[in-house]
Amino acid sequence: ETTPMRPVPRPGVLGIAPYVPGKSKAANGRTLFKLSSNETPLGASPAARAALEDVSAHLELYPDGSAAELRAAIGEVYGINPDRIVCGAGSDEILSLLAYAYLGPGDEAIYSEHGFLVYDIAIRAAGATPVVAPEQDLTADVDAILARITDRTRMVFLANPNNPTGTYLPFSDIRRLHAGLPANVLLVLDAAYAEYVRRNDYESGIELAATSENVVMTRTFSKIYGLANLRLGWGFGPVHVIDALNRIRGPFNVSGAAIAAGIAAVRDRAFIETAVEHNDVWMPWVSEELRKIGLDVTPSVGNFVLIHFPDREGKRAVDADAYLSARGCVLRLVGNYGLPNSLRMSIGSEAANRMVVAAVAEFMQS
Ligand code: PMP
Repeated sequence: ETTPMRPVPRPGVLGIAPYVPGKSKAANGRTLFKLSSNETPLGASPAARAALEDVSAHLELYPDGSAAELRAAIGEVYGINPDRIVCGAGSDEILSLLAYAYLGPGDEAIYSEHGFLVYDIAIRAAGATPVVAPEQDLTADVDAILARITDRTRMVFLANPNNPTGTYLPFSDIRRLHAGLPANVLLVLDAAYAEYVRRNDYESGIELAATSENVVMTRTFSKIYGLANLRLGWGFGPVHVIDALNRIRGPFNVSGAAIAAGIAAVRDRAFIETAVEHNDVWMPWVSEELRKIGLDVTPSVGNFVLIHFPDREGKRAVDADAYLSARGCVLRLVGNYGLPNSLRMSIGSEAANRMVVAAVAEFMQS
C-alpha cells in the first residue's frame, strides 16, 4: 500500500452528491419573485426584526451556548419540556447531528424515495448506508419502509409534509410506522412544514416524540417564521437523545441573533396565524388555477406545490423553468429528486402567484 500524496476524506465522502440550493436569481437578471426555496412571502415578524437591534449592540459577546431562553420560549408555545429540546443552525444541523450520533459504517438508515435530500447527505457523511423505500403516488409508504428494516437499520427519516412533493401521512400511519420499528431504531419526524398543516394531527406527532424512547421531531424557523437567513431549527424528543446531540454539537452552534429573533418570532402567534391564512387561500388557488390550465399538480399540505409538465418537446419542466426565469420568476427544478419533469413552486405573495399562473398559462399556449 502506498501513502497518498495528499489528505483523503473518509470512504464515502466523495460519493455524496453536493446539495444544490434553489437559484436566487432569474435568468433575465431582474428577479421579481424567488419561489425556489419554500421561503415565506411575508418576511419575519416585526418583533423578530426588532430583537436583532439589541443583539447588534454586543456582537463581541458569545451567545448562550445552551439557548436556554429560546428553548423555554419554544417549550411554552408548543407545550413541551425545554429539557427535551436542542437548537441548531437550521434543522439541517439537527438532522446531521442525529446521523453523526447514531450512525456509522455498516449501519443503514431508511428514507422515502422522494424524501428531502439532506437525509442522504447526512447518512453518507456519517459513513452509513442509505436505503431508499419506494413510494405510492409520491407519498411515503409505511409498508415499504417497514419492509426494508434489517438488523442493521438504525434510523428512519420521514418528512411530513414531505418536500418536494407536499404530500402528507396522517398520524395513524405515523403510529403504525412507529409500532413496526424495532426499539433500537430512531424515527426522525422532520416537521419543517408542520405549521402549514391544517389538521390537528400534529399534536399527536408531538405527543409521540414526547412520550417515546425512539422518536425525534425536527422543526425549523426557516419556513413559516421567515428566519431562514439566520439559520435556526430545533429538535425534540427523549432526554437521552437530546443529551447525545448536546455532546457532539458545536458549543455555540446557534448565534445570538438567531436566539433573540427566534424568541420574538415564536411568541408572535398572530403573525403565524396570518401566514397560515395566506397559505390557506393561495396554495389551493395556485393548485386549482394550474389544474385548469391542464397541468397535474400533486395535492399539497405545505407552502409549495409540485407541478408536473407534459412529456412533450418544448413543454417540459426545463422549458417552463427557462420561460418563467426569463420573466423574473424563479422556481425549482427537482430532477435531483428523481422528478425530471416537475417544477416546485413556493406559494408567494398574491402578485407572485398571479404572475406565475398567468405566465404558465402563456407558456402552455405558446
Ligand atoms: N426539512 C425539510 C423537509 C426541508 O424542506 C428543509 C428546507 N429545505 C429542511 C428540513 C431544512 O431547513 P432548515 O435547515 O432551514 O431548518
